[in-house]
Amino acid sequence: MAQPFHIIPIFATGIRTYYTKTNKRDYQLISIIPPTNLYYTMKQIYAPFAKPLYVMTKPIGSVCNLACNYCYYLEKTYLYKDISKHVMSEELLDRFIKEYISSQTMPQVLFTWHGGETLMRPLSFYKKAIDLQKKYAGGRTIDNCIQTNGTLLNDEWCCFFKENDWLVGISIDGPQEFHDEYRRSKQGLPSFVKVMRGIELLNKHDVKWNAMAVVNDYNADYPIEFYRFFKSIGCHYIQFAPIVERICMQHDGRHLASPMQDGDKMADFSVTPEQWGNFLCKLFDEWVKNDVGQYFIQLFDSTLANWVGEQPGVCTMAKTCGHAGVMEFNGDVYSCDHYVFPEYKLGNIYQNTLVEMMYSERQQKFGLMKQRSLPTQCKECEFLFACNGECPKNRFAKTTSGESGLNYLCKGYYHFFKHIAPYMDYMKHELHAHRSPANVMEALRKNPLLFRCR
Ligand code: SF4
Ligand code: SF4
Repeated sequence: MAQPFHIIPIFATGIRTYYTKTNKRDYQLISIIPPTNLYYTMKQIYAPFAKPLYVMTKPIGSVCNLACNYCYYLEKTYLYKDISKHVMSEELLDRFIKEYISSQTMPQVLFTWHGGETLMRPLSFYKKAIDLQKKYAGGRTIDNCIQTNGTLLNDEWCCFFKENDWLVGISIDGPQEFHDEYRRSKQGLPSFVKVMRGIELLNKHDVKWNAMAVVNDYNADYPIEFYRFFKSIGCHYIQFAPIVERICMQHDGRHLASPMQDGDKMADFSVTPEQWGNFLCKLFDEWVKNDVGQYFIQLFDSTLANWVGEQPGVCTMAKTCGHAGVMEFNGDVYSCDHYVFPEYKLGNIYQNTLVEMMYSERQQKFGLMKQRSLPTQCKECEFLFACNGECPKNRFAKTTSGESGLNYLCKGYYHFFKHIAPYMDYMKHELHAHRSPANVMEALRKNPLLFRCR
């Protein structure tokens, strides 16, 4: 069967945005464009009640050639300090691929390879993965995406990605000065030049790639510089992810707080709610002038999706969690990439099936917890439909009435939603009239007063 659409999962766990492939390089967002006829038709034919089972996998655990200051992955090695080599065996690879494919009720299967630094595994590992995917595909279409810091890319890797049509996610924090502030090697050496060399190679080989940028205390005040940089390097799909961490010394050597703990203080690199709100508003103002439909900023797509009542592409904006698990190098499966903590381990693939773990009562409870644990301030918030209280990992602030469980970034999100509401209303109206939401640009040029904050 012809492949009607590509799923482009941008970056981290559970963060998926759906696009149709309109030609060789161009994609059109479908998560917000009703109706996604082909998708629903396929769903009805093949599996009327199905949703994809999604488990991201980490073939080298959290091992990385960089040591970015804010990286929450790095300290996951402490969870496995009794295991000397954090490397997925070929036996586990075989087991995972076979079981992952056979667990799907949909005709398409998406593999996401995440690190640590994924390219620290040899190319032969991923070639083996391709062979196994072919062996077990059983008529299904297989897609692959891989997240990398880009520093180890070479011609050979790029040829492989091109040949096998892999989507590559590059972690890059904007222009050199911003990027090199935190994204350094263990020896403290900057990485920007190497990443850019990697991007040039991807472009040279015509590999599909997109960018993930972390918004932190250092770069959050420069959204325009940030955004223009990505445009200047030809990146059309960008995810901006806010970094929020608290310091809490753990007995096993970890120093970041888990979501269940009270952190003593915020980690210095965290973005503040005010910074995050201003960042998003300024970025939006720049984007909405000329770039709607040309450049895709995941949070804006997801916000519009929520505005029109469609499923958002990013899990943080969704009503519930639990749709995307993560498997460590040794087969341990966790509820979510942001919940790789002992308390959220669902089991191990050698003892439990993926279906058992991902559809377990525990995982369902985890998924619903996002909605059930909302504080009253969120339940009464005019933007709950768009925000859904964001990621539960960040809900350690108190509401104005002193209730626990408010998202630390609340103030920033509220500011953002309030600011963009007139634009979103306009785009929603256009979509309902079967017109392009990109018309908002023309409307803004003609009558800026239409978009005054309400
Ligand atoms: S906890 Fe929920 S919202 Fe946060 S990253 Fe995981 S799935 Fe997404
Ligand atoms: S903006 Fe704040 S109050 Fe409103 S839903 Fe989001 S986190 Fe809750």
